[in-house]
Parts: sequence; structure tokens; C-alpha cells
Amino acid sequence: MSVRVRYAPSPTGLQHIGGVRTALFNYFYAKANGGSFILRIEDTDRERYNDESLQDLYDTLQWLGIPWDEGPGKGDFGPYQQSERFDLYQEYAQKLLDDGKAYYCFCSAERLEEVREEQKKNKSKNQGYDRHCRDIDPAEALKRKEAGESCVIRLKVPMEGKTTFHDEVMGDITRKNADVSPDPVIVKTDGFPTYHLANVIDDHMMEITHIMRAQEWIPSGPLHVLLYEAFGWTPPKYCHLPLVMGKDGSKLSKRHGSTSLVDFRKAGYLPEAIINYISLLGWSFDDSREFFSKEDLEKLFSMEKINKAPAVFDYKKLEWFNGQYIRMRSKESLLELLIPILQKDGVVSDPMTEEETAILDGAFPLVQERLKFTTDVSETIRFLYKDIESYTVEDALPKKMELSQIPGILDAAVEILGDFDKRTQEENEQVFYDRSQEMGLKMGQIMQPVRVAVTGTKMSPPLFESIALLGLDKAVQRIETLKEQIIKTLGSDQ
Ligand code: GLU
Ligand code: ZN
Repeated sequence: MSVRVRYAPSPTGLQHIGGVRTALFNYFYAKANGGSFILRIEDTDRERYNDESLQDLYDTLQWLGIPWDEGPGKGDFGPYQQSERFDLYQEYAQKLLDDGKAYYCFCSAERLEEVREEQKKNKSKNQGYDRHCRDIDPAEALKRKEAGESCVIRLKVPMEGKTTFHDEVMGDITRKNADVSPDPVIVKTDGFPTYHLANVIDDHMMEITHIMRAQEWIPSGPLHVLLYEAFGWTPPKYCHLPLVMGKDGSKLSKRHGSTSLVDFRKAGYLPEAIINYISLLGWSFDDSREFFSKEDLEKLFSMEKINKAPAVFDYKKLEWFNGQYIRMRSKESLLELLIPILQKDGVVSDPMTEEETAILDGAFPLVQERLKFTTDVSETIRFLYKDIESYTVEDALPKKMELSQIPGILDAAVEILGDFDKRTQEENEQVFYDRSQEMGLKMGQIMQPVRVAVTGTKMSPPLFESIALLGLDKAVQRIETLKEQIIKTLGSDQ
């Protein structure tokens, strides 16, 4: 039997790390086993549904380069959007009613609330629905329904016995039926199915072989197995994926940082870095290998290597991966990402002029070697394209120094830069070092004001490379300009 797995998100929010991890694991499992990856939209909760979330789902999968074999608009088991499958759920709920496996419940919201209050007051160990309508004669119930009385349909959960479901990672999980949620609603008053009913029917009808989803769904496991039994169906295999935690050991959430994929996208992460890192959240190939391309994972992913223990999401590690993947990109494909950013930030024109292209060409090795995020490119090389309109004088002032010392440093710099082009990088460094010693300063105390003068920022690429790229004349001009600005500042302070 060929593997059929699905990602079944509810479009009620942006795609986040946890959801994408589920999508990727299912996708890779399908690919590694020559199976099918199915995308199913679980949009039965119409109150929480929204169009933006659905669009975000499509955009995210497209950005990651994760196509579905079956899903909206494609495949023989559709429709793949639950809102288009309501007739099917009705039909199967009716079947459960006919077989005495489900029943109509006419309890009002007020009554259910009273039951809850009572249980709370008595500290009763029976929580939840009190099965009030379970024994109403079905013919009588049907009459009441047909007379227009509002009702839901509930599953008749056996009150005796136990239910076991087997999880490929966690092993057997057994619950007493008496502890499974008492007779959960499977069809709501408005005729809409609940998650449990729709999910089980669809997994069966779509011939899903393995359910890989987050561990949060484990508590629903026994109930789902009972539903399969009620229909007389065999459940698929289950594989619940370990939780994703923040560094503090609590479940990953906004408190730890961004969790939605669109934030990472906007922040200049590459899809291949995200895919690699997220794939290691609860899965490993062996004890040492860290780098996996999408193509690697399509071959190597296996269920046996999924961990039980929670995974810890380390933002720094993801950042590191991103830098690594920026270095691994081909020049052409990295430029394809960087040029639109430079254009959007107004650093270069669209289309780029020949001169702008030549500058980028020169700066490229440096950029590729140093960028952590694609979005940093504009800040990193703006100085090569734009004059610095005005300096933030404080940036040019190293700690524990007086502003009045800086003009002298800048003069010294202009002087020793005279032969800059004739010297090697090491020689230039030596000259700067020697001069700083003579002046009783640290090397950094000379470098910082010069760097700010040349590039406008403290964060720029290495100084000598920056000067070489910009050209010595321009660099010297900028040093003079900063000096004048500082002298003016000093004058107006007196
Ligand atoms: N719609 C559910 C969710 O949003 C699917 C859970 C499952 O995979 O069964 O997580
Ligand atoms: Zn009832």
C-alpha cells in the first residue's frame, strides 16, 4: 500500500513554526517513501476562518517550495476543502444515528452550563456532558427534531472497556473509555460537523495511511479510534511529533520571538535555511550531520528517527544556518534576492545602471561573506552608492574619548591613507597599528571614527575593504567632511 499523508491546517491564523514542521515532515515522509502528500483545508470552524490565513498558507508552501500531490484544485479524492464536503459528513453522521452509535441531544446551552456549575460545586469527578439525552427513544428524538427543536448530534462513547491507539513514536497509549470525553458533539446545531467527525471521515475517505501531527493532538487519539470503530473502519497509523519549546522549556510562543513564517520571510531568511533548521526540530539523521538540503530530506527522512523528547527552538542557531546558506548560494541566485531589496530600499535604480551593477559586482564577495539576513544588504553597502548626508557624530566617538580628540585622529588617518593603494592589506593594518601606538591609542579608537566617516555606520564591512571599494579619493573626502562636522559641533557647544 503506498504511503498517503496529509497536512490538514485550519486557516485560522498565520502559518507558524509548529505547523510548518508538520507540513515538512509529512511532505518528506511522502517523498522518501514514494507516496503522496495531501493538503487538506480544515475550515469547518467558520467563526475563526479567514481568507488571509488561507492565502498565507498557500504563500508559505510556495515560498518553501513544497508542492502538494493532492489538494485544492488537484487530485482524485477531493474536494480537499472541508467546507465543500458537508453532504458527506451529514451522510456519515446519519449512518451513526441509524446504527445507534450516535444520538440527538436537545440540551440548551443554559442546561449545559448548569451541569457544569453543579459539577464544579460538587467537585464531581465526572466532568463534561452528563449524557442526559443518550437514552431518549430514537423515534421520539427524530420527531422532536422534525418539529424544529434545536439539537446537536453526539457520539455514544462506550462507558465500559478501554481504547488503545498505537503511536509509532510514543508506543501504545491506552485510555479507559469512561475517561474519554463523554459523548462529544460531532454535528453542531447549525448542521456543521466538528473537527473530530470531519477529520476522521476525511482521513478514511482520502485513504490516509499515516497521521503525522503535533503531540497536542494525542488526547484526541482515543476518541478518533472510537470513531473509526463506530464506522467499522481501520484507523491509519499515528505518529505524533514532539513539542517545540522555547529555550526556557515552555511551549514556543510569541513570547520567545517571531513564530510566524511570514515574519521570518520578511526578516531576510532563506527558505533553505528554514527548511533545514525546522527539519531538525524533532528529527535527526545521526548524531552529527546538520546540513540537509530539501533534496537530501526528500530521500533521507524517516519516521524511525523522529524523537520523543521535545525539541528546543534556538533562534541563534537558525540565524547561523541562514548565514551559512547565504554563503552557499550561487552568485546569480543570491543576487536575484538582493537586487530587489536594494531597489526597494532606493539604494539602486530599477533597472540598475551599468555603474550600479559594477559596484555591486565588486562588493559581492564581501556581501556574501558577511550577510546574516538578505534584508541587511542595503545597510551594508548603501555607502558605496549614496553620499552620506549627515553623520551621527556620537557614532564616531569611541568609548571613553573626548569629541575634541577626533579631528586629530581623522587628520592622522588622512595622512597615513596617502599610500593606501600602494600597500597590501597587512601593511595598511600595520601602519594604522603603529600610528595608534604613537598616539597612545588603541587601534579601534582610530578605526571607529574612520569607519563611520567612510561608511556612515559603525556596522559596515571591514574598513580597508570598504575604502578600496569606495575609492581612496572619496574616502578621504568623507573623512574631511566628518571632521568639519565635528569641528562645527564642538564650536556650537562652547
Ligand atoms: N485541523 C487540525 C489542525 O489545525 C488538524 C489536526 C490533525 O492533523 O489531525 O491542527
Ligand atoms: Zn442532551
